[in-house]
Amino acid sequence: MSKSKGARAHRAREYMHTLVDTRERLDTALKTLRSVSEEGPNLAVDGEGFDYSRRGRLSLIVIATRDHVFLFDIVKLGKRVFDRGLRKILEDPTREKLMFDCREDSDILWHQYNVELDGVLDIQLLQVMFCRRDDSDLSPFGRQRGALAPCVKVLSLLHCLEQYADDVTSTKIKKSVGSTFAQSPEQWMVRPIPSDMIKYACVDVSTLFVLYDKMKMGKRNMRRLKVASARYVSLKRSIKKRRYDIFERNGYLPLNVIPEKGHVDFSPYQSSKGPKCVGCQRRFPREAFTKTQLRNGEQKCKVCRKVKHSIDVQRNKEENCESDSSEDDSDTSEDDSSVSTSDNDDDY
Ligand SMILES: [Zn+2]
Repeated sequence: MSKSKGARAHRAREYMHTLVDTRERLDTALKTLRSVSEEGPNLAVDGEGFDYSRRGRLSLIVIATRDHVFLFDIVKLGKRVFDRGLRKILEDPTREKLMFDCREDSDILWHQYNVELDGVLDIQLLQVMFCRRDDSDLSPFGRQRGALAPCVKVLSLLHCLEQYADDVTSTKIKKSVGSTFAQSPEQWMVRPIPSDMIKYACVDVSTLFVLYDKMKMGKRNMRRLKVASARYVSLKRSIKKRRYDIFERNGYLPLNVIPEKGHVDFSPYQSSKGPKCVGCQRRFPREAFTKTQLRNGEQKCKVCRKVKHSIDVQRNKEENCESDSSEDDSDTSEDDSSVSTSDNDDDY
């Protein structure tokens, strides 16, 4: 087993790629993608850009088949990439596309290029389902358990690769090139694109097949994943006015994104049109909030309360450090206990 897994990973990092930056290459690439069998998933999609969201800039749309990666240069070719055929592929609900955290891709594609992404299987969600597949009782998605649900962390692509793919080369590229972007994300807009960034972009899509093959489950769960991914696709795209705050961008799985175990649709609890969480701006049943929160207009969903709690803990630590250095620590220990118990209703 481990041998075949290693072979697949090896093949993934040797993918051939084409930089699509001329009209001729665009037409050839689209022709190839259209000819790929719809019995999939046989496509993996990712975008790269600066300040990646509806307010940022798109540099590349990268699409991999199982043996080739096409990097569509949006800086050079602009909207015509979508108008000449890519929109149709990205919007086709029957053509399954592997992605990893599709939320910001969906946001920028819709708000800047009028592309309504569909047909996604999101590997970040698949990982959550996969690692909890044997938990019979602790479904974080159950209708009765909604208010008591534990908060689930989502993994980054790098973390997933380290955990599930036997591919040292790809993780090395992710780490080394990724650290460059953290320093200067505008690098994605530079032309010609440096070769290590091309490699990085290829890793981001080609490894999704490896992760999918490793974690895929039975047909019913794959339908469940498709339903969950559709909700994930629209999560940020549907926000009228984005805030870009910690409640929009954090490492937790938003509530009510994955249907309950054994279901391929959402329970009434998960589809509630109740009060809006003031953190993530999503609607939840009234019982998800305390009466005091509702009365004060400060109702936060389980995840947003967890995020707020993390901020409080961090702030408290910083204050503690400052107090330690100023030698006056008698008052801070009291402050410390009041902050650390302030969100005690969250039984993580
Ligand atoms: Zn919330």
